[in-house]
Amino acid sequence: MAKKKTSRRKKNGYRKFWQLGREEVNTAHFDISEKGTLIVREGNYQYNINDILRQHGTPTEIFFPTIVENRVRDLIETFNAYIKITGYKGRFRYHYPMKVNQNRECVLPAVAEGANLDVASANELYLVKRMIEQDKFNEKIRVICNGPKTDRYMGLIEELRGKGLVVVPIIEDMVELERMNKFKGEVGIRVDLNVKVKSHWDKRYNRFGFTEEELLALGKIRNLSVLHYHVSSQIEHITGFIQPLKRALALYAKMREKNPQLDTLDIGGGAGVPYDKRKRFYSGKSLISQIVKTAKRQCDKLDVKHPNLIAEWGRYVVAPAQMTIYKVIAEKEVYNKGGNSWYVINGSFMNDLLDTWAIKQKWHVVPVNHMRDHKLAHVWLAGSSCDSDDKYTAGGSYITLPRLPEEDDLFVAFLDTGAYQDALASHHCLLSSPLKLTAQNGEIKVARKRETPEEVGKQFGW
Ligand SMILES: *Cc1c(COP(=O)(O)O)cnc(C)c1O
Repeated sequence: MAKKKTSRRKKNGYRKFWQLGREEVNTAHFDISEKGTLIVREGNYQYNINDILRQHGTPTEIFFPTIVENRVRDLIETFNAYIKITGYKGRFRYHYPMKVNQNRECVLPAVAEGANLDVASANELYLVKRMIEQDKFNEKIRVICNGPKTDRYMGLIEELRGKGLVVVPIIEDMVELERMNKFKGEVGIRVDLNVKVKSHWDKRYNRFGFTEEELLALGKIRNLSVLHYHVSSQIEHITGFIQPLKRALALYAKMREKNPQLDTLDIGGGAGVPYDKRKRFYSGKSLISQIVKTAKRQCDKLDVKHPNLIAEWGRYVVAPAQMTIYKVIAEKEVYNKGGNSWYVINGSFMNDLLDTWAIKQKWHVVPVNHMRDHKLAHVWLAGSSCDSDDKYTAGGSYITLPRLPEEDDLFVAFLDTGAYQDALASHHCLLSSPLKLTAQNGEIKVARKRETPEEVGKQFGW
């Protein structure tokens, strides 16, 4: 018995070391097999990532639609639970912002769990139109339209409204306000709130929406039902949600004097993901509870009707649903950095995980095999393009990985890569994009084949 106990502790030791099996950092369904390989569980199904890679090769992205389903369901249920507990009178709607990940295997599971949609362009709305025409979407689905309303975009909005769909364009400026005068459906308007919150996008100058003063000066706005704001993404603290919410509710109360049909507040995106598994981060539950409680308290204080609430959280829902995996193909010394090595990977940060370069994104990196190896190395990771910016150093610190095995490959997985990286992906040095697999119901399917040299060349007119 005693022996068993020690071996279990040892097993959990490695799991803990790689930050797996922890609900609060979204790794609850990750584990390590007896052989030291990465396991992902979906209920009682499990996927051995190492086996999948041996079959399909690298670089590879693995997407887990079930994670999207669970997170959407959980988000909606949690909002509804706090609405009930607090006696809040408005209702909640979740709108999935398509721009965060437009892949079919991501959008459809979200919609299946009751997500409405938020689109950012005519092309995203075109995909909605196709699903409606194929009778695939319940026509009760509601679509919020952000982004500049080009003629084509407006044409699609009108067309879908004509088919009976609730499509709510969000007015961003005076030109759009003018054009919307002829629009027959409900509209929303975007405010650029005068608050700053802590995050990468804490920009001093914002080019989206009207100022609070401008909105009040506008007085009555035709068919206005939604007041919308979106302050930032990956907001670091809960106060970054509460401050804008209070300000927006005060504005909503004032705007309702001239616009009594205004009944919905859309709080945009911004909910963050604990990319760094070693830091404390707020939970979705405490965030939602504070949002609903604040909304209730403020509205009662202002003596205004509780608005319906819309959240457009994208990253929060889909980042944890994907991992990106590379093989280490070489080790090189880092000059002037005592003892550290570069591990060169068979893919590119600049191409496949562009935020590494663009916003200095931190990722949680774990080995896929050799997870129980005692010998570890502090390394930096280098991409396969010829660009000196194509690297990941965890912000100048280091990444801990097993030493390169002598007779075996080493695979490394980047977690939480489901948000934004795909649509930003590029082809520096004409490297092929990773293969994309989906894992659901115990089955692995190819969602996007590995690009051949012909296919890559074709994109450049060859
Ligand atoms: C980008 C964006 C979102 C999603 O933001 P996340 O930080 O991913 O939640 C939501 N709404 C609007 C208007 C956006 O531009």
